[in-house]
Amino acid sequence: MTTIEHALLGANGALAAGLHRRYGWQVAVMAGFAAVCPDWDGLTLLGGPVLFDRAHRVWGHNFLACGLLGVLVGIVDYRYDLMTRISRRVFQVLRRLTGEDLGSESLTLRNTWTGEGYLVWVGVAIIATTSHLAADLVVSGHRTLGDWKLPLLWPFSDESWIYPHVRWGDPGITILFMLGMLAMYRWRSRIQLVAAATLLAVAAYILIRGAMLG
Ligand SMILES: [Zn+2]
Repeated sequence: MTTIEHALLGANGALAAGLHRRYGWQVAVMAGFAAVCPDWDGLTLLGGPVLFDRAHRVWGHNFLACGLLGVLVGIVDYRYDLMTRISRRVFQVLRRLTGEDLGSESLTLRNTWTGEGYLVWVGVAIIATTSHLAADLVVSGHRTLGDWKLPLLWPFSDESWIYPHVRWGDPGITILFMLGMLAMYRWRSRIQLVAAATLLAVAAYILIRGAMLG
């Protein structure tokens, strides 16, 4: 699955659960960010092809790493309110570019922290990083590349799994997510419903494509 699809899967999950109503839009953006994070092992490319070959789709793509990563992302984001800070920056840059104030002042930073907040943030982040594994299990392979198995129990076991349903580069999932975003923009009071419908449509699409692959 591509980076943008992983992010939209995470964000749609939080929105479909209605978490944005109680905890603000930041929890959905954080879920999108967390859902992308397991691909950090691809950054080992910077360490050269030998390291990349050993680490890519191994170090980050297992339950242990995703669990730890979820705890880290959840705690750090909740404590420092990173998503609000980044959004403020984006609004500031946009204001400089367009000369229009798009409402950055309304983005106030979190100034109270609760145990429930930490629990929700960590829980959502863990589910989001795990959704990355689920997605990579079913979106795999390419006309010229083979399937890329995931070592879910690494480092305790080298056994690896893959259930290819949708080929890499298939635009169908991206198109469904984009339609979902347009629908959210159109029906802003129905975001939870649209997010749930989008996820259902994506799941159905994956199943149908899987059946077609035989
Ligand atoms: Zn991945």
